[in-house]
Amino acid sequence: MSKRTIIAAGNWKMNKTPTEAAEFVTALKERVKDANTEVVVGVPFVCIPAVKTALTGSDIKVAAQNMHFEDSGAYTGEVSGAMLSDLGVDYVIIGHSERREYFGETNETVNKKAHAIFKYGMKPIICCGESLEQREQGVTAEHVRYQIKIALLGLTADQVCQTVIAYEPIWAIGTGKTATNEQANEVCAIIREAVKELYNTSVADQVRIQYGGSVNAKNAKEIFAMPDIDGGLVGGASLKLDDFEIIAKSG
Ligand code: PGA
Repeated sequence: MSKRTIIAAGNWKMNKTPTEAAEFVTALKERVKDANTEVVVGVPFVCIPAVKTALTGSDIKVAAQNMHFEDSGAYTGEVSGAMLSDLGVDYVIIGHSERREYFGETNETVNKKAHAIFKYGMKPIICCGESLEQREQGVTAEHVRYQIKIALLGLTADQVCQTVIAYEPIWAIGTGKTATNEQANEVCAIIREAVKELYNTSVADQVRIQYGGSVNAKNAKEIFAMPDIDGGLVGGASLKLDDFEIIAKSG
């Protein structure tokens, strides 16, 4: 059995109003009281205060879905680490493929954000993953290794031990097309090996690496049971109470 705690993180994306979010997590906290994973909900910025209040007394952690790396200043529309930390946010998801595709996120901004997240006492969930074209061209390992090397630049070993990496093949996100357990585990193992090369065996043994991409109530248990996979970053299925409850108990 893995000594790493399995992490079941929901990525709600741009879904649920603050009212809906509070209702959802109020129900969720009862359902996952005895979950055998670390449960995280990644909610829209505006939902964070309502979700935090609704989760009082619960072990469920809260993640933001993005953050700016600057401390403060003239960055209209942006949200800083100080703001999220003040709200009691635990994790920040960075480098999601949707942010890379639609909002200009790069490996370099991911790295800056990772540093800022630690500066404000939170932990990053760093997403990486290849496109279908890259997989077909056989450059998955190279691509993901490169993403991770840049994302982790300058982080201390201790910080990397607290980091969560989410391997999300772009072709599996929201498509209903899951990577096979073996495909997912293979890339998570490649990422772990890259962490070992950059740091050492102990850091590689401690860093948690999730799989994301069409994880659901039916496939979560077998995915989470793979040796190099430490849980999931779950989009669509995290919006449904019944499904996310099962996923949260799939450790
Ligand atoms: P999905 O999304 O579970 O809906 O495929 C995963 C993600 O984008 O994190």
